[in-house]
Amino acid sequence: MRIVVCVKHVPDLDSVRGFDAEGRTVRSTADGTLNEVDENAVEAALTLRDGGGEDAEVIALTVGPPSAVDAVRRALQMGADRGIHISDDALVGADYAATAAVLAAAVRHAGGVDAVVTGMAALDGLGAVVPSLLAAELGLPQLTVAHEVSCSGPPDHVVTIQRDVAGATETWRAPLPVVLSVTDVANSPRLPKMKEMLAARSKEVATLTLDDLGVAAADVAPRTEVLSATERPPHPGPELVTDDDGEGGRKLAEYLISGGLI
Ligand SMILES: Cc1cc2nc3c(=O)[nH]c(=O)nc-3n(C[C@H](O)[C@H](O)[C@H](O)COP(=O)(O)OP(=O)(O)OC[C@H]3O[C@@H](n4cnc5c(N)ncnc54)[C@H](O)[C@@H]3O)c2cc1C
Repeated sequence: MRIVVCVKHVPDLDSVRGFDAEGRTVRSTADGTLNEVDENAVEAALTLRDGGGEDAEVIALTVGPPSAVDAVRRALQMGADRGIHISDDALVGADYAATAAVLAAAVRHAGGVDAVVTGMAALDGLGAVVPSLLAAELGLPQLTVAHEVSCSGPPDHVVTIQRDVAGATETWRAPLPVVLSVTDVANSPRLPKMKEMLAARSKEVATLTLDDLGVAAADVAPRTEVLSATERPPHPGPELVTDDDGEGGRKLAEYLISGGLI
């Protein structure tokens, strides 16, 4: 069984984040990290591999600038077998459709893929559309936003998931090959030990360009454009009303009246 797990390198949520002159997210190596829910995707991929027979393997795949290889490295530390990093200057400014098209091309290039596992959303772009676009590109069934995943053993390999939608929990299933996206409660991602972190250094990571994938830059040119991106003003923070001078009740009433709350 061959499983591809899509891992995205995103700016750390705790870092100071911003936009460049073109309105694109600033991505520097220093504050980048593996998209948090993609750790759940890696864990789900590893679990599928463990039930997938002796030859089963997990390939960690990313599309992004040179620094994005760190996301692949993290997946390798967690236990993925090898990595693929798609990096090409023509992808600067790639939009959702382009990203999905390139991920799909990389999956086809890897060949013989039985499952593509993703996180439910990337914490920077927050599109939450790449998994569905990817399934459409590949012509595969999609099992999305799964909070529980199981897979029956050979020869059938049917994946069953549970997902929550407004007011209901749904159970879906599909035979492999499939595109699966998972939530942050789907599992508990393993924490790699020092030995696994060292072993990951010698795992293979192939760096490929659009040419290598047989994709023309014109075919993945963005069809959308960021017109503006401005930082929101900082949140004013909570107002603390004290009663040190016995005036707490009055101050609270004044605050509520001034805010039009009463
Ligand atoms: C007009 C426009 C211009 C943009 N320009 C840029 C730009 O210049 N530089 C830039 O970095 N971003 C840019 N973006 C954002 C970028 O296109 C999105 O981050 C990307 O398309 C993925 O969308 P998302 O992050 O919302 O993914 P989601 O759909 O929220 O991601 C869901 C899951 O898909 C997988 N996934 C998503 N993206 C990747 C990836 N790249 N590699 C591997 N797995 C992935 C992960 O498993 C993730 O958990 C732009 C977006 C738009 C609309």
